[in-house]
Amino acid sequence: MTDSFSELKPSARILLGPGPSNVHPRVMKAMMTPVVGHLDPDFIAVMEDLKKLLRAVFRTGNELTFPASGTGSAGMEMIMANLIEDGDDAIIGVNGAFGARLADCAERLGAKVHKAEAEWGRIVEPDAVERALKSAKKPKLIAIVHAETSTGVHQPLEEISALAHRHGALMVADAVTSLACVPVEIDKWKIDACYSCTQKGLSAPPGLSPVTFSARAMEAIKARKSKCRSWYLDIGMIANYWGESRVYHHTAPITMNYALYEALRVVVEEGLEARWQRHRANAAALHAGFAAMGLKLVAQEGRRLPQLSTVAVPDGIDEAQVRATLLKNYNIEIAAGLGPFRGKVWRVGLMGESCKRENVTLLLGALEQILTAMGAEVARGRALEAADAAYTGKSGI
Ligand SMILES: *Cc1c(COP(=O)(O)O)cnc(C)c1O
Repeated sequence: MTDSFSELKPSARILLGPGPSNVHPRVMKAMMTPVVGHLDPDFIAVMEDLKKLLRAVFRTGNELTFPASGTGSAGMEMIMANLIEDGDDAIIGVNGAFGARLADCAERLGAKVHKAEAEWGRIVEPDAVERALKSAKKPKLIAIVHAETSTGVHQPLEEISALAHRHGALMVADAVTSLACVPVEIDKWKIDACYSCTQKGLSAPPGLSPVTFSARAMEAIKARKSKCRSWYLDIGMIANYWGESRVYHHTAPITMNYALYEALRVVVEEGLEARWQRHRANAAALHAGFAAMGLKLVAQEGRRLPQLSTVAVPDGIDEAQVRATLLKNYNIEIAAGLGPFRGKVWRVGLMGESCKRENVTLLLGALEQILTAMGAEVARGRALEAADAAYTGKSGI
C-alpha cells in the first residue's frame, strides 16, 4: 500500500434539512461506551430500558416495541413484509415521495395496491381512503405517512384509523419524521403498526428504526399462511431476540442502540409536551420570518408540519446555488425538493436538536443575505424582527 488516506474531515454542520438532524452531544458521548456482546447482561439491561423508553415516546403499551436494525425504511419494510401476504389488498395513502415509497414496497411484497391519493402539498382526505377501500375486496391494511417530509404536510391519522378498523383492516403509520416532533399517539389513535427513525426528531445518527406492533398486528402475523418473505426482517425471529428467550437472530448494532438509548433519555427528560411546544414555537418564528421576507410556504395551510417546511423558490433563482452558498458561507444544510417539487422548493427542517431559536435566526439572516445578493425580490430587514415578534408575542424585545 503506497496510498495515504487523510483523516476524516467532514465539518460540523448546522443540519436544517429533512434529516439527519444535529446529534445531541450526550448521544455522541454515549457512542463511546464499550461495545459488549449482543447477549451480554449489560446489553440486555439496555434493551429492556430501550423498550420502555420507546413505549413512552410512542405512547403505547404495545409489548412488541423495539428498534429494528437499519434506517427508517427498514422499519417500513419490516412492517409491510410481516403484515402482507401475496395477493393481499393494501390501501396506501400517496401524496408525496414517502407515500409512493410505501406503495412501491407493498407492491414488491405482492400486495394489490389501492392508492388513496392527493396532490403534493395536501393531506390525503378520508374520502379518498374510503374510495380506495371500496375498490378493495378484503383490505388487509391501510398505510399512510404521518409527516410527509417531501411536502411538509401533517396528515391527521385518527379518522383514517377509524375507517381501517371499521373495515377490519390494520392501520399502519409512517412516523419517521413525526416522532418526538409532533404528537404520535399509537394507543389513542389505535395504530396497529408504526415505524420511525433515529436521525430526525430523536437526533441520534441514522441506523435504527423504532417500531411498534399492536396485539392485533401480532395476531395477523401469527395467522399468516406463508412465511415472511424477508429472512432478515422476520418479526417472529426478531421478537425472540427482543423478548425473554433472547435467541440470537442477527447481531444488534450495539453502539447505535446506545445512541438511541441516550437520545430517548434526552427526550424523556425534556418531556414530550415541552418538545412539541418547542417545535411549534420555532416553526412559528421561522414561518413569520419567511412571510416578512416575502417567501411563500407550499404546504396546505393549517396542515403544516413544524419540523419540516417547504418554501417556494423565488422566480428566477437557482435553488441549488442558494443551498451551495448556505453550506459554504454559513455551514448550513437545507434540502432540495423531490419529484414534482424539484427545483421549485426548499425543504427546511427544524428537528430535535436542530430546532432552536439561534438556528431560526441564523437561517433567516443567511437566506436574506444570499437571496438579496442574487437579485431576488425579498423584503430586507424585516425577517428577524418578525421572528422575534413571534417569540415574544410583540415586535422588538
Ligand atoms: C426519511 C423518511 C423515510 C426514510 O427513512 P430512512 O431513515 O431514510 O430510511 C421514510 N418516511 C419518511 C416520512 C421520511 O421522512
